[in-house]
Amino acid sequence: MTGAAAKIIWLVFCAAWFVLRLQPRRRSRRTPIRQSARDTREIVLLGCSLSGLGIVPLIYVVTGLPRFADYPFIAAQGYVGVAISGAALWLFYRSHRDLGHNWSVSLDLRERHTLVTTGIYANVRHPMYTGFWLMALAQLFLLPNWIAGPIGLAGFGALFFGRVRREEEMMISAFGEEYRSYMRRTARVVPWIY
Ligand code: SAH
Repeated sequence: MTGAAAKIIWLVFCAAWFVLRLQPRRRSRRTPIRQSARDTREIVLLGCSLSGLGIVPLIYVVTGLPRFADYPFIAAQGYVGVAISGAALWLFYRSHRDLGHNWSVSLDLRERHTLVTTGIYANVRHPMYTGFWLMALAQLFLLPNWIAGPIGLAGFGALFFGRVRREEEMMISAFGEEYRSYMRRTARVVPWIY
């Protein structure tokens, strides 16, 4: 695999993720929001994630900038990147399917919001975020540039660590003991570890 092929593969995975999101986005527009914790902080954090996982790597893939941060590409890193991207896409697919109409791009509780604890949600509380962590890791492997590669981890890391506690508090406020007991029997993103 060449560096150019790895960049194209990164683009293809992004496009596949975008397509996977089309139906959930349409459904979420149809399901009214009952309560929301969207605020400036959430918008800034979403901006960090979008920049790190989308805008900066896209500029790199299209223009090659910033060139000073390039390093030689090794084929093996490309194959690792493809495997991780595949796992990430599968997680996005499964978590969207299991979360159904409860999904939001931000911190929202929807009309008829239900607590999902089955399917992939029986293994971890935040499988979609596991998918984003894997997508960011895949970016590190696929893009041989010391800025465009790791910036996905930084951008999504900001969103994750800035949001996850608030999200869990919101779920506790809505579902009380049911969510607390769900927390006791599941890890956040990596089964049994974290
Ligand atoms: N953090 C989850 C979901 C991300 S989408 C994951 O990584 O898979 C964010 C929305 O999902 C939040 O607005 C919250 O209301 C909702 N949510 C999070 N966990 C949920 C669960 N177990 N059941 C139902 N809705 C959930």
